[in-house]
Amino acid sequence: MVHGGAGTWRKSTSALKRRLEVLRKACCYASEFVQESALDACEEAVAFLEESGVFNAGRGGVPTAAGTVELDAGIMDGRTLAVGAVSCVTRVPSPIRLARRILELKGVILVVGETANKLADMWGLASSEPLRPKRFSYYVRKLEHGELGYLTKDILEVFRHLGYPLETVGAVAVDKEGNVAAACSTGGLALKMPGRVGDSPLAGAGFYADNRGAAVSCTGVGEVIIRLAVAHLVSEYVRMGRRLSDACRIALQRCDELRPPLGIGLIALDSRGNTAVAHTTPRMLYVIHDVRSVVKTGLRA
Ligand code: ASP
Repeated sequence: MVHGGAGTWRKSTSALKRRLEVLRKACCYASEFVQESALDACEEAVAFLEESGVFNAGRGGVPTAAGTVELDAGIMDGRTLAVGAVSCVTRVPSPIRLARRILELKGVILVVGETANKLADMWGLASSEPLRPKRFSYYVRKLEHGELGYLTKDILEVFRHLGYPLETVGAVAVDKEGNVAAACSTGGLALKMPGRVGDSPLAGAGFYADNRGAAVSCTGVGEVIIRLAVAHLVSEYVRMGRRLSDACRIALQRCDELRPPLGIGLIALDSRGNTAVAHTTPRMLYVIHDVRSVVKTGLRA
């Protein structure tokens, strides 16, 4: 299962349809890995989406307030609870690949900034130049029109009026052994403060995977998702006996209590292959694939 963000899009435009098509391709490509390893499948799906440049992740990362690109990503193995994550990387077109290498290192979980860039240099995953932001002038225009006042005022209240799409990407998968995995990748919120870390590289917040619970990947304003550790919350509800769909619904209700400025979206699955998509935004982009073919796509309202 993959997602391409949850948002306030009203109509299904050609750009959204294009993104849905890229999601479908990513899912089909990653399905070749899923029988053997849910972890590999999640990495491959998210790397595909990062490389596509059409989402707010990897090559498509949105700009920070300084006009730079700072990317976050994380991946988790539900069998071992091993995690690898990176934050604020500026020269890594596919941060999920770097996160996976860090997971394999064992003994370190989250590496940020220049050290993470240098690890990427060492492993041949870095570009020589910093990545260039996508649509900087578009966001600067919004800023000039007073639509991004969160840089000076109450950040959450202004997000409520923004309504721009959250195009973070994520994947969850289960393999033939019943092992689950989850991954997440983002450029974060547009014109975010440089150095700001959202939920996407934080295990338990933006993503989580536990064979005894669930694999979950979230999207939405990180400052809300982090406070409730949403991905872990869903997994723990399942581990304690709730149905997957109920667990997602209850977790999103908890988010609503915090009055999020924009909605939250998530995809989830458990080791028996049950799947769930839940969101409080008007729509969410996702694709569900079983071992043979795509079973469901959603530009879901
Ligand atoms: N969760 C991401 C963040 O807050 C944004 C998103 O999902 O689009 O960094």
